[in-house]
Amino acid sequence: MKAGYAYQNYINGEWKSAQGESEKVINPANEKVLAEVNLSSPSEVDEAVNAAKRAQLFWKTVPAPEKGEMLFEISQKLREQKEELSQILTAENGKPIQEARGEVQEAIDMGFYMAGEGRRLFGQTVPAELPNKHAMSIRSPVGIAGLITPWNFPIAIASWKMFPAIISGNTVVWKPALETPGMANAFVRILDECGLPAGVVNLVHGAGETVGNAIVEHEQIDIVSFTGSTKTGRLIASKAGSMLKKVSLEMGGKNAITVMDSADIDLAVDGILWSSFGTSGQRCTAASRVIVHQDIKTELEKVLVKRSKELTIGDGAKEETDVGPVISRQALENIHEYVKIGRKEGELLCGGRILSEGQQGKGNYYEPTIITNVQPSAKIAQEEIFGPVIAIIPVENFDEAMRVNNDSAYGLSSSIFTKDANEVFRAMHEMDTGIVYVNAGTTGAEIHLPFGGTKKTGNGHRDSGTASLDVFTEWKSVYVDYSGKLQRAQIDNN
Ligand code: NAD
Repeated sequence: MKAGYAYQNYINGEWKSAQGESEKVINPANEKVLAEVNLSSPSEVDEAVNAAKRAQLFWKTVPAPEKGEMLFEISQKLREQKEELSQILTAENGKPIQEARGEVQEAIDMGFYMAGEGRRLFGQTVPAELPNKHAMSIRSPVGIAGLITPWNFPIAIASWKMFPAIISGNTVVWKPALETPGMANAFVRILDECGLPAGVVNLVHGAGETVGNAIVEHEQIDIVSFTGSTKTGRLIASKAGSMLKKVSLEMGGKNAITVMDSADIDLAVDGILWSSFGTSGQRCTAASRVIVHQDIKTELEKVLVKRSKELTIGDGAKEETDVGPVISRQALENIHEYVKIGRKEGELLCGGRILSEGQQGKGNYYEPTIITNVQPSAKIAQEEIFGPVIAIIPVENFDEAMRVNNDSAYGLSSSIFTKDANEVFRAMHEMDTGIVYVNAGTTGAEIHLPFGGTKKTGNGHRDSGTASLDVFTEWKSVYVDYSGKLQRAQIDNN
């Protein structure tokens, strides 16, 4: 896309410019302007909600297998355009192109998976307690879904929400992050090309405080599904909660990798590097704490520091890049502030600098950073940094490792590297996060299992898997009495 081009909204099947000002879309690899995006106001949200409302009357009557056919076509088109979509993603978000391809693949997988759900959407059939009576539960759509998504996984997260929402008969008003509007438009363009009826998905660009807030506060939006920071999620929950809306929240993380004394050190280092420095540490599942058994700490640190220094930092568009830029100058400065604090809380092993020379000086690059001998209660061990920074916390034994792992306000993802089968099963049960990995890092979720977290990471809902259908459907219990007489449950049979 050329600078000067402004991304538009998509409302009721039409591309339209918003009335507000434009904001620049910046490539974080070099700070060049990629395009602009028109900022909307609450009136455009209202227009989108009206379109979604009209479309829902019709959409909920379309048989789910037919909706599934449409999703198959959409997923096929996503697959055909995978490379182009990945390039847009890297340009806007900065993540290395290989990771971008992985993210687009996640959206493709989610599309095919939910297309199949068009022929399932299982409810339950149970025996009734009275004769000549049938008892079952069926799913029905919640209504109009307001989706609010972040920039760090701009297509994967959108697909986790949008596909289950539409397969189960909801219509959608989507507000993507302002940093990644090109990705959103490319995604919606595919829906449009595949003939998704007008009004089923509506896209409104704008700031969180205006457009996001208008979605949350709109009387006609029945469910809000949000992914982003815990601070924003809390605000959304309080507003939507007071309106008695269904609210699904996926928020921050402070994920830990535990490395026990029996672990394969090289494998653990592979897992740490991928989980901590992939997407420059800007994943909700990024490992920002490494809990290490004291007996192998020196060896682990030696290998980890050596391998960290060998990583190629640069423009994500280059195939050889391991670590791309962070999203903005502001993010760079926030990360650096945390590292300054961390240097007082522990001992810097490597990194700790904003890269300001040559090509790197033109973008937002932070050196992969490792700080050791950090106390579990330290600020850098408790707060989400959202950058390529690891705090190493030494422990004496497995029990202490589990205590430290769980000593967090967040509860998204945990991992353990060990060869001890007892530790594997104990960790599975004792780690108090929504996701647990064994002998793998804290990232790498597959779309057919639930994705989400406990404590301040979530509010009890999950994206992905069939769990996401629970977010976008209401259960309806249906009793059919074909006895021809009044049968009173709990009374006539007891
Ligand atoms: P953010 O909360 O700043 O923004 C997320 C979205 O909310 C954006 O679209 C933004 O415009 C919108 N928004 C902001 N203020 C709003 C308001 N007052 N009302 C309504 N909408 C508003 O988060 P971010 O910086 O874009 O994303 C990073 C955060 O997201 C991190 O904390 C990360 O851990 C989290 N995250 C969580 C998951 C998960 O599944 N748990 C996945 C990815 C990212």
